Amino acid sequence: MFKDATIEEINSAAVLAWKTFHIYRKQSLKQRADFMRAIAVEIDALGASLIETAMKETNLPEARLQGERARTIFQLNSYAEACERGDWLEARIDTAIPTKTPPKPDIRKMLVPLGPVVVFGASNFPFAYSTAGGDTACAFAAGCPVIVKAHPAHAATSELVAGAILKAAEKSNMPQGIFAHIHSSGFEGGKALVMHPHVKAVGFTGSFIGGKALFDLANQRKEPIPVFSEMGSTNPVFLLPEKLNASATDIAKMYAGSITLSVGQFCTNPGLIIGIAGPSLQNFKDNLAAEIKNIAPATMLHPGIAKAFVGKREAALKQPSVETVAVSSLPSKENQGTPTIASVDAKTFLKNPLLHQEIFGPYSLIVSCADMKEMTAVAQHLEGQLTSTLMATDKEIMENEDLVEAVKNICGRFILNGVPTGVEVCLSMHHGGPFPATTDSRFTSVGADGIKRFARPVAFQNWSNALLPDELKNENPLNIWRTVNNMLTKDVSTV
Ligand code: NAP
Repeated sequence: MFKDATIEEINSAAVLAWKTFHIYRKQSLKQRADFMRAIAVEIDALGASLIETAMKETNLPEARLQGERARTIFQLNSYAEACERGDWLEARIDTAIPTKTPPKPDIRKMLVPLGPVVVFGASNFPFAYSTAGGDTACAFAAGCPVIVKAHPAHAATSELVAGAILKAAEKSNMPQGIFAHIHSSGFEGGKALVMHPHVKAVGFTGSFIGGKALFDLANQRKEPIPVFSEMGSTNPVFLLPEKLNASATDIAKMYAGSITLSVGQFCTNPGLIIGIAGPSLQNFKDNLAAEIKNIAPATMLHPGIAKAFVGKREAALKQPSVETVAVSSLPSKENQGTPTIASVDAKTFLKNPLLHQEIFGPYSLIVSCADMKEMTAVAQHLEGQLTSTLMATDKEIMENEDLVEAVKNICGRFILNGVPTGVEVCLSMHHGGPFPATTDSRFTSVGADGIKRFARPVAFQNWSNALLPDELKNENPLNIWRTVNNMLTKDVSTV
């Protein structure tokens, strides 16, 4: 439907973004924030047509898309606020001590923008992690122009949102080239963007294969650049016996909802449930099976995702010692994901890497362990995850330090007695995790700390007050929090 960008058009977009970078990075935090707020207003103004277009393209229901649009608007406004608040700049000031031997110079540090950022939108979040989603908002806040590679599964939705960004840019007097929107149906377009010498960082949400391929490409460049890929995760849930004994029915109900939410198409979907064999785990399985049988299959985001789900689910169910616990008993149509629960013993699980892989859709595997020692071995064996969850009593947490430490070691967000689906947008959120959940476990793609992905530190040594950026001037004209001689303060009397 949309014409693929030619390599010449991709080059022009990158060259213009680089030119624009030298103008935009000098704009004040307020100018950047006002631009982001203007984007939020324009997205809201798209009204029903945006929701209708996204419904047609993604098969997601209206209520879900309304919620996601509200989340996207909230992200833009709250990251704009954070941009102006300036904490993300990590301003540090160490004043000179001329009497020290040798004399200590005046040194002041802050984050500065990296340069043009390429964003690959996610198929499962057409608004919140796509064209004007978290990565784009963070890049604008950091002072970077953005080039979005539209996800082909929601190209028309992406086009509408891109129009809103361009309108906001015009109304906010942003330099031309602050934002570009590229369609490309093969990998060539994405590859050309990542390899372009004027591109300085990449944000990606999607498959492990895609995220890792882009990361590898970026590392083959003459000047390697950071690629923040958020990829797959099985989000293991550990059911401890005392907790399970007390509330197996409630936990089963809660997890049936979480596993099948949005046809299981969340990167935080609980794909592994680890328990200790015995009557409580059997009770949990029976209750979960009863719930799952009554949850209807639903249409997935695009035929490719449905096909991948069917193939991976089939392959997992065929593995030796894997048993099918429950499958939805309601009728299914083409391209629908059928809610499914399987189970396996921990010894088999530990030996079979195929069972550790994410199956993107409404599927979860129950792993039954002989005892706590084996449960801890499973935790120690798992790769990096976006989230891990413990369903446990306080007593169980205190008595199982090895397990708690092993689980904490593999994840970015550690949940106690809850479900991993549902990612709050706030400063304390960490949506990331050790590889292969992401390509850089130090950063988050949700919450205003995500701005730091697109910035780097510069230390200014011996600069006179008049020549320093406003963020680091003695009089603190932006009234931001700064660490002055090791004390976090807005006070200027110590500078
Ligand atoms: P994807 O295949 O990873 O594609 C995401 C974007 O990256 C698309 O724009 C795609 O371009 C591009 N891309 C992928 N590989 C590339 C490469 N080697 N070189 C250049 N560009 C590349 O993700 P998807 O289409 O959304 O879904 C496929 C699978 O991803 C799902 O079945 C699921 O397993 C996983 N997924 C994970 C998450 C998560 O949050 N972790 C979210 C969504 C999907 P093209 O469209 O041109 O191919």
